[in-house]
Amino acid sequence: MYGEIEGTGFEILDPQFTKCVTGHGRVERLWTGARWTEGTVWFAAGRYLLFSDIPNNRMMRWDETDGSVSQFRTPSNYSNGNTLDLQGRLITCEHLSRRVTRTEYDGCITTIADSYQNKRLNSPNDVVVKSDGSIWFTDPTYGILSDYEGRSAEPEQNGCHVYRVASDTGEITAVATDFVKPNGIAFNRDESALFVSDTGASHNHKGPKHIRRLELNPDGRTLGQSTIFADCSAGLFDGFCFDLEDRIWSSTAEGVHCFAQDGHLIGKILIPEMVANLCFGGAALNRLFIAGTTSLYAVYLGVNGH
Ligand code: MG
Repeated sequence: MYGEIEGTGFEILDPQFTKCVTGHGRVERLWTGARWTEGTVWFAAGRYLLFSDIPNNRMMRWDETDGSVSQFRTPSNYSNGNTLDLQGRLITCEHLSRRVTRTEYDGCITTIADSYQNKRLNSPNDVVVKSDGSIWFTDPTYGILSDYEGRSAEPEQNGCHVYRVASDTGEITAVATDFVKPNGIAFNRDESALFVSDTGASHNHKGPKHIRRLELNPDGRTLGQSTIFADCSAGLFDGFCFDLEDRIWSSTAEGVHCFAQDGHLIGKILIPEMVANLCFGGAALNRLFIAGTTSLYAVYLGVNGH
């Protein structure tokens, strides 16, 4: 478990990445046995990590106290991205039910969003909660393209959009409607901008494979200027997250790519499987948990998440 795993390692492309890794840090494979891992989310109070295994229609739970992995929820409605809200409750994107849900303290599941303008959503993919409690999520069609990661269906929406759910009224608005396949989603530290990956190249090689930066307007609810933050040099960017110093750690086909605030690639963590998502966890939030196709990986870093 603690030995060097073939195909893992670090690539330092800029000296500033040196402080991001530790001298003895090694990538560990914590568990394997999934078909497509996604949606990592860390529960600090319970010292466990939840993640999705989409094609197997289940959510898994890795326990930090003994390293065990168990099925947390099955069936999971082909859950994908997960996050926590401000009260520490689980927020989940579900492909099969084409909705975003909240798991309440008693275990009941509440639907937060399943339609927009009286039409069903496509298949919510990834989700983030802003400091005002609003819930922002992406809605590409991956869960309705076939029966593998959900159920095949015709889209009802006129595109694949990014949505915001107001914390007070529950009102759903489309905040970005010019994506091909919006996917990973996160705010930078001061929430001055929303970052969203576009995996449009998954079904059209000429399609986008980048992360976009969308400035938040002063109202904190709508988006303004959009620029391309970074293009992916290894497959596609799926899920990603920020560290405390606003670097982006993103999934790619060859592992994790780390970007400085200005969008230049400063280093890589090589993983022997395609990575779909990742999050910081552990008591000090200095451990990166990585969903890599069939396996869950982790590595201690020299920097912390939040
Ligand atoms: Mg995703």
